[in-house]
Amino acid sequence: MTRSPVVFRIPMRTRFRGQTQREGVLLHGPAGWGEFSPFPEYGPRECARWLACAREAAFEEWPEPVRDSVPVNATVPAVDPARAHDLVRRSGCGTAKVKVAERGQSFDDDLARVEAVRDALGPAGRLRIDANGAWDVDEAVRRLKWLDRFDLEYAEQPCATLEELAAVRRACDVPIAADESIRRAEDPLRVRAAEAADIAVVKVQPLGGVRNALRVVEACGLPAVVSSAVETSVGLAAGLALAAALPSLPYACGLGTMSLLSGDVVDDSLVPVDGRLTVRRPTVNFQHLSAFQIESPQWLRRMQEASL
Ligand SMILES: [Mg+2]
Repeated sequence: MTRSPVVFRIPMRTRFRGQTQREGVLLHGPAGWGEFSPFPEYGPRECARWLACAREAAFEEWPEPVRDSVPVNATVPAVDPARAHDLVRRSGCGTAKVKVAERGQSFDDDLARVEAVRDALGPAGRLRIDANGAWDVDEAVRRLKWLDRFDLEYAEQPCATLEELAAVRRACDVPIAADESIRRAEDPLRVRAAEAADIAVVKVQPLGGVRNALRVVEACGLPAVVSSAVETSVGLAAGLALAAALPSLPYACGLGTMSLLSGDVVDDSLVPVDGRLTVRRPTVNFQHLSAFQIESPQWLRRMQEASL
């Protein structure tokens, strides 16, 4: 029996947020396993929420689900149109999120990729774009008008700040989703107050767990898209529990991220089938877990500092 807490390190298939591997701590308690995997740049105060999420998973009950499965989007990185087309076709998803405004690429690259994805999805598919805050207001308004010929479901974080998002939202018809603007539990309310977005992209670890995130989403009043922080299936299960418990879920979620990691710690990985994740909580497989286990006093210290 592997003893809790366990520090893990899993290589990533694709570089994400400058990382080539995903690390964190898995905690075990009477309710099951929980994941604590804040990104490296977060300090103890932010990490405290991530830890609250892991502890909730290990020691408390999650709320009852109101649905048995959750639709997820395919994610299309800044690849060429042929690869983008292929990726969407093979995903089986009816919704795709396309990365745009990648450094070193032109707007023509974005247009070609978005066009290829629309073709792969067909007219009934839903297509959203994600600029990760890269545009200024004028650029965003101009580009969204162009891209909307491919019928955008929404644009995720076209600009960096709330003021800019609000200005873009006033100037064009494409719905706006806030992602990077939501990093802490108080952020969704700020987004709402600034009239900066139509949709809130929420992650369960930074919002302090499933129950807390439910309260935050309810207080915010915007429709929510539950996204992962690229967790193992232990961490994803908490995001899935949130998506399963939200009273309304009008959009596909960003929980189909298992394919970004080169391995998992459970038997029944949370991998979507036909664009949906069946709501469940996979069991940890100790053989898989020990394959990724590392000794890391730093991670245990980080966890301790988050609980002070
Ligand atoms: Mg995003």
